[in-house]
Amino acid sequence: MTLVDVRGFPVHYGRGRLASLVREIGRYLVVTQPEPWAVVEPTLSAAPTRVVQAGNLELDHLDRMADSLTDVDAIVGLGGGSAMDTAKWLHWRTRLPLYQVPSLPSVDACFTRMTALRDGGGVRYDGDSVPELVIVDFDLIGAAPRALVAGGIGDVLSCHTGLWDWRLGADAGRDHPWDDVAARRGFAYLDELEALAPLLGRGDDEGVQRLMECHRDIGWLCHDLGHARFEEGSEHFFAYCFEAVTGRTIMHGELVTLGVLVMSHIQGNDPARPRRIAAAAGARTALDELGVEWDEVESTLRRLPTFVEEQQHWWSAANGLVVDDALLDEVRNVLAATAPDERAGR
Ligand SMILES: [Zn+2]
Repeated sequence: MTLVDVRGFPVHYGRGRLASLVREIGRYLVVTQPEPWAVVEPTLSAAPTRVVQAGNLELDHLDRMADSLTDVDAIVGLGGGSAMDTAKWLHWRTRLPLYQVPSLPSVDACFTRMTALRDGGGVRYDGDSVPELVIVDFDLIGAAPRALVAGGIGDVLSCHTGLWDWRLGADAGRDHPWDDVAARRGFAYLDELEALAPLLGRGDDEGVQRLMECHRDIGWLCHDLGHARFEEGSEHFFAYCFEAVTGRTIMHGELVTLGVLVMSHIQGNDPARPRRIAAAAGARTALDELGVEWDEVESTLRRLPTFVEEQQHWWSAANGLVVDDALLDEVRNVLAATAPDERAGR
């Protein structure tokens, strides 16, 4: 099946659209990162007035940058999540037209309206930005390492565990009420993800396009519902806890995928399905490929039950979870069983 009646921001799929668009938008600023900029810059038919590197999402820094934008007519975000988020905030502060060009199909930041700001040592979501156009360029995405492209499944695969947790929380009366229409949509994303995963694994443009259509509709549904309960549950809390415990991170989509594999097992929620989807897409899931030590997973799981309480995360399988040696052994075996040779293209 293909996801029908997708809603969300206007999007163009193809090749070279930005290269010609920049002739039509006047003086423009590009917010970018070194790798995607190196791919795109030589193709542009008009040079930007300014190029800034994304990375610093501190509110004060972004506001100072916004105040200085007196010499441009448009803003182009080009790259990963921090480029998208920076461009969104500059648009929100200046109301200059915004164009977003994600460099990986994991970047749902181009389809969400708020900016993830760093403020006072924490993350805060603010602003409301809608781009004129999101440009998904297959040449740009094709220039990225295949494993990172496949990692883009994470924030759709998260519906598998997120929906289970939502049901648990809603039944316990501790959560947003269950919404059948939204939940059905969440299950439809999973069906679509399972269908597109082999295309992604083969490197087909169609796989990238269909994955981005999922992200686009998810962005719309989050805004429409006012929450992301259908796609965010214990797999994300596992990811946040991993970052808090280890003081580092890996690619968001890959970390969330790892969280889905771990938490779907703990939930007793068809853990074979996300494994199958990840394998077909060619996503990295073995700890050694991800550069993750088992000790880090163990520390994350041991901390998780108190972490979700302290952070007041939505109710999930992590609440009250008893993390004993038997559970840790099971999880370790589950992750060890996800051998690289199970995957497509090996
Ligand atoms: Zn996410």
